[in-house]
Amino acid sequence: MRQSKLFTKTRKEAPKDEVSKNAQLLIRAGYVHKEMAGVYAYLPPGLRVVERIKQIVREEMDKIGGQEIIMTALQRKELWEKTKRWSDEVVDVWFKSELKAGGEVGFGWSHEEPIAEMMKNYVASFRDLPIVVYQFQTKLRNELRAKSGIMRGKEFVMKDAYSFSLGEEDHTKFYNQSIDAYKRVFERVGIGEDTFVTFASGGAFTQFSHEFQTIVETGEDVTYINRAKNIAINEEVLHDETLKTLGVTRDELEEVKTAEVGNIFNFGVQKSEDLGLTYKNEKGEDIPVWMGSYGIGITRLMGLLVEKFADDKGIIWPESVAPFRVHLVEITNDNTEVKTEAAELYRELTEAGIAVLWDDRDVRAGEKFIDSDLIGIPLRVVVSEKTLAAGKFECVHRASGRVEHKSISELIGHLTA
Ligand code: ATP
Ligand code: MG
Repeated sequence: MRQSKLFTKTRKEAPKDEVSKNAQLLIRAGYVHKEMAGVYAYLPPGLRVVERIKQIVREEMDKIGGQEIIMTALQRKELWEKTKRWSDEVVDVWFKSELKAGGEVGFGWSHEEPIAEMMKNYVASFRDLPIVVYQFQTKLRNELRAKSGIMRGKEFVMKDAYSFSLGEEDHTKFYNQSIDAYKRVFERVGIGEDTFVTFASGGAFTQFSHEFQTIVETGEDVTYINRAKNIAINEEVLHDETLKTLGVTRDELEEVKTAEVGNIFNFGVQKSEDLGLTYKNEKGEDIPVWMGSYGIGITRLMGLLVEKFADDKGIIWPESVAPFRVHLVEITNDNTEVKTEAAELYRELTEAGIAVLWDDRDVRAGEKFIDSDLIGIPLRVVVSEKTLAAGKFECVHRASGRVEHKSISELIGHLTA
């Protein structure tokens, strides 16, 4: 993509009311637009990052048998009344509205209830199970706190998956597969080392649920971890009983600030009983379906990657989610040969299937480099009179600052290896 054609512009300052580092950088670099507190639009480069994160999650969900769907944003009041979750006292993030024809609707902050209800159309016998579905959807939540940029939105993209199993044994098998799939996701986006499967509050059927908490300075959660034993406990369940169950003592644990990037939950048969989702077993008896839910905050994850990897010059995207692999920066000084060379390099890289942002703008070199650092594409390739004379391009790795000199074929070889 030619940067001169990109409608988004970099800017020196973030809006005054924006306090979070992730949103400040993302706005300045042209990835997102702030509509209001906690509500952000995704611009072309930002959307590319969102889509790349989604694709990693999609691949891992498909591997464990997930089938992708999209549920509706508008939801029925009656369903949530059946599970006693329509009330604002019980769920404090509801957005609700009135229908012109009369009656109320809710805006989807979560989808367990509608999905369980929908499954009544597709689950009849034990032969129909198990089922795993997932979706990427914009959730709407009337969140009070809005200090964390895209890490806590009133509108945000979540991947939520739901499993429907015959009973506890099958459920547990899938639950563990899901933990492994999540680990692969966080590994692939570059935060595997610092992401912990964390014990958190359970529900009617379990002592604990599991959160995926990633260490980050600006995280909203407090987690107690022991790296050697690979144990992590959310502060909300840090008490004697938990310590005893897990076989650790308080002083073996280190307190860290974290952000919850994912959350998995065992509902048991509670939802199915409330909503009447049952199947017939071999004897013809009606048995409630065992349900689990599995969330990943897609846009929160994007914000976290910014917070975690940025330096004082700007964003540093991990290779796996970067909007482009190469930032091709031409420094022409009105030399048409440089321009031609840059165009040729752009063509060859693009033909080799490499996503390139080509800074073909007519601006000073210094400004281009500052913008390039801010935007944070993993590899900067500079074409100038100097590189033309040397017969090799200057390649600068954004994360390490390492500089290499490569010919076109060496560069393509390196990028397609
Ligand atoms: P939190 O404890 O942070 O409020 P939650 O427990 O309400 O989150 P879930 O309902 O389990 O979150 O949602 C699944 C995932 O969606 C979370 O693990 C998180 O990564 C993400 N998420 C939740 N709320 C938000 C939000 N307001 N903005 C962005 N991402 C969010
Ligand atoms: Mg939570």
